[in-house]
Amino acid sequence: MSEIHVKEYSTISSDINAESADNIIRDTHSVCPKCMQDIDAIIIERSQKVYLRKECKGHGRFEILISNNAQEYKQLQDCYFYFNSNNLVQSEYYLNASTKCNMNCPICYLRYCQKIDEFPIKRVSQASRFHKINRFTFSHGEPTQVSSLFAMVNILKDSGKMVNMHTNGIKIADYAYAAKLKSSGIDHVSIQFDGFDDEIYMGLRGQKVKANKLKAIENLKVLSIPITLNVTIAKGVNETQVGKIFDYALKEYFIKDISFITYSEYATTKENMDKYIMPDDLINIIDEYTQGAISRRDIILFQKVFYAYCSVIKKRKCFYYYHYMVVRTPKGYVAISEFVDLEKFSRKLEKIKQQKKALNFFIFLWMLSCCLKLKSLKLGALGFKEFFKGGFPRRPIKLLTLTFASICDPYKYDRSIADHCGQGIITDTDMHESYGSYLIEQMKKAENRI
Ligand SMILES: [Zn+2]
Repeated sequence: MSEIHVKEYSTISSDINAESADNIIRDTHSVCPKCMQDIDAIIIERSQKVYLRKECKGHGRFEILISNNAQEYKQLQDCYFYFNSNNLVQSEYYLNASTKCNMNCPICYLRYCQKIDEFPIKRVSQASRFHKINRFTFSHGEPTQVSSLFAMVNILKDSGKMVNMHTNGIKIADYAYAAKLKSSGIDHVSIQFDGFDDEIYMGLRGQKVKANKLKAIENLKVLSIPITLNVTIAKGVNETQVGKIFDYALKEYFIKDISFITYSEYATTKENMDKYIMPDDLINIIDEYTQGAISRRDIILFQKVFYAYCSVIKKRKCFYYYHYMVVRTPKGYVAISEFVDLEKFSRKLEKIKQQKKALNFFIFLWMLSCCLKLKSLKLGALGFKEFFKGGFPRRPIKLLTLTFASICDPYKYDRSIADHCGQGIITDTDMHESYGSYLIEQMKKAENRI
């Protein structure tokens, strides 16, 4: 954990593959974080760790640590690319309704993005008619700054879509506003929540907003709107909040999931690169905090099952979004590894891969039934429906999903992964299948990127 995550070499080698101690895992494409030119990149293994390395002719070589365990990384990516080899249709899109915001977080990417004042409402009507999209999330800017938000939610709900929004929660702390949102029909709210200490908000968000966040959560709870906590984790700033937030969410049944998202760097100055952290590190933190009840091993095994599951339901999925699930109990929680033999499931998937067989939903269900443990009987059919249904159940539920994720930035951008991005984005003029690549395109266009 103490390793410096980014190295910049002063001498420029003519060959990025030059170091013989390194084993190349795969080729990909990225950008130079300084001039944003497209450049080749390689994923390499060195001393059991994995790095993304790239070199710009003008700005030298960049190397970033992306995993602490090369063996796991290779197994996971092989599984990912095998089961995600088909070009799956993007079914989830962000709606970039506005880039306005009522906060000015120092870590935000918005300052580098093209400004959108307000989304034309007819654009939402058009989007609502795209049959292949079943879930929309108002995101990218702060949706509560858009005067037509309620009307837009209404249009999408009338078309039978699931509607979520990402918010800093400032406006939601006003009960009357939250109640209007509920009336508009919104299914779910993902609220930015970085911990229980105002010093953290001062560092990451530029103001003390803990009380607002807690009030917003309370309002959503009273209104029975399911919640995701979007937690940005920056190294040396708030890793210690991971366990506290997990304990808090366990007791609040209306919190459907916690997305721990790693700090991203969008500036070229690299002054904050000491805050850089990867999902890989977050998994170690939860393993340590829960004393192995949610173990790193089980999280890695669960990804393989999840990649396979996404392929059979034809859902695109980001490689760097790790999920895990626990069931709340009166005394705490039980992890999904207590219900499903993840080792056995992983071996079965490995066999399918080795034999180059295809997987479909029925084979997946059959494999699952072979891997259930006795304890799963307690869950019953209804419990398993929750595990695999997805969506946004309106009632408080026992299931809590944990997500450990990273978002593309110019340092870690890996186009082979971004091409499979689990989210697209619709702007006032365009539609993009990969949100990750859209973000990078925005950085390229930014004239005053510093
Ligand atoms: Zn460059």
